Amino acid sequence: MRRAFLVPTLLRGNASKMDSTLELIQTAQRFVRQQMEIGEREFICRRGPSPAGSPMAEPPAPQTLEAFYESIKDCRKCPLGKLRTRLVFGAGNPDADVMFIGEAPGREEDLQGAPFVGQAGQLLTKIIQAIRLAREEVYIANILKCRPPNNRDPEPEEIAQCEPHLIRQIELIQPKIICALGRIAGQTLLKTSGALGSLRGKVHRYHGVKLIVTYHPAALLRNPQWKRPTWEDMKLLRREYDGMELG
Ligand code: URA
Repeated sequence: MRRAFLVPTLLRGNASKMDSTLELIQTAQRFVRQQMEIGEREFICRRGPSPAGSPMAEPPAPQTLEAFYESIKDCRKCPLGKLRTRLVFGAGNPDADVMFIGEAPGREEDLQGAPFVGQAGQLLTKIIQAIRLAREEVYIANILKCRPPNNRDPEPEEIAQCEPHLIRQIELIQPKIICALGRIAGQTLLKTSGALGSLRGKVHRYHGVKLIVTYHPAALLRNPQWKRPTWEDMKLLRREYDGMELG
């Protein structure tokens, strides 16, 4: 088993820092020695929390969607940051009960800086309306905030860098139900490689929130025979929503 030793972040540039550095190294040595005595051979080293007030301490997490947008709008954590026209943060009601999550912005979305504004977006609006909700009353976002070139599938590293943004968004919105649109969104949120057919039609959990997976509207444009199962998924979503309203 791998043991993690959390290294407290050090303060910069004074004599007492030297003392604490030495102390830290000695503590690390003791830790490694003890672990080797009990048979551990592999260690990973992660940065631990900085002491409060230290110049290295992480800034507090933004507390509103707007503040959060400001904090990530120039994101360059992955190469897509350099390729995008605009970061597509998400749109809708910041207090939404229902959140729809797609895959990544397409060409239109990249140009306008808003999610689901192309042809697939028009169909999504109709799907939302079909379950007696309005687009303005839900929140719409994507797994990735920047467009992959030629609409290729997101790379695992891009997802790894971008998903924390989505998680913070979900924490701020606190939806009661999430609907993942398409295979990539479903697989990413549920950390599975299962086929869409096996993920749809049921209620999962994502960070404690109910999650329903269904077909991506762009896939429905190409495969109209998937409209029927999508409608079943949407009725399931509506039932869950009504159940929570009553409860
Ligand atoms: N497809 C997506 O997954 N998201 C968008 O925003 C647009 C198209």
